[in-house]
Amino acid sequence: MAYIEELFGLKGKKGFVTGGAQGIGKVVATGMARCGMDVAIVDVNKEKAEEAAHQIEALGVRSMALVCDVTSAEAVDATVDTIATGFGGLDFAFNNAGIANNTPTEDIDLKDWQKVIDVNLIGVFLTARAAGRKMIASGGGSIINTASMSGHIVNRPQPQSAYNASKAGVIQLTKSMAIEWAPHKVRVNCISPGYIRTEMTVHVRQDWQDSWMRQSVLPSMGTPEDLVAGVLYLASDAAAFTTGSDLVMDGGFTVV
Ligand code: NDP
Repeated sequence: MAYIEELFGLKGKKGFVTGGAQGIGKVVATGMARCGMDVAIVDVNKEKAEEAAHQIEALGVRSMALVCDVTSAEAVDATVDTIATGFGGLDFAFNNAGIANNTPTEDIDLKDWQKVIDVNLIGVFLTARAAGRKMIASGGGSIINTASMSGHIVNRPQPQSAYNASKAGVIQLTKSMAIEWAPHKVRVNCISPGYIRTEMTVHVRQDWQDSWMRQSVLPSMGTPEDLVAGVLYLASDAAAFTTGSDLVMDGGFTVV
């Protein structure tokens, strides 16, 4: 076995990716499959989730598509049960589903503000809780949550107070779970991407995108592919001593 494979020990690990039907989730799930990991796709978009699961199976690993709204505790618990039973265990969870809203704070309705918190923060709590319960029972695992550089800084010029608050919450939730579950050998980390070219960002007003590039250290947006190795690292045995950390992958955006 190549040293790198031995070091990372990814082959045969079993888990799921939420928001895995497209964007960051789909690309990371594909990277996992290419390392020999069994990956279930959890998403609200049935058609795209099934397409992603088929593409992953074609890489020679097991997959399944599960339609699940991460804001529903019952749906999340049932989904994680199905995955753990179907795969015969649960080693990792990439809690990545998220939405954005750019309505100014003085104009946004409570229900729209709350929706962002529900998906981005409560959704991470529910999927991490369901995965954590399985991992505690089975002797360990690795949970990776998608936060954002928006959990560290306030983006400009677009308004997004709910999004920023939700992502700051994900970082602190990650650290809290890491401390609680360390005795059970369940590691909990998060990633904080900068601007990444996906459906979430491509339709954003061009003048806002131009502003991002003027503020950016590297002269372009990142791609989902730029995040794959970071998530694989946190899921892997190579990160056995890493918990409660936030891996910032933002092209240096938050440094200045
Ligand atoms: P996308 O919008 O491309 O993909 C998100 C996926 O999550 C979609 O398939 C979406 O389905 C699904 N989803 C939305 N709501 C739910 C829900 N309630 N339950 C289950 N699935 C849901 O986004 P990205 O890939 O860009 O983002 C992935 C994560 O990365 C998010 O948490 C985001 O906040 C974060 N992030 C993204 C950055 C970027 O610049 N793109 C930067 C930093 C962080 P549907 O489309 O049908 O709603």
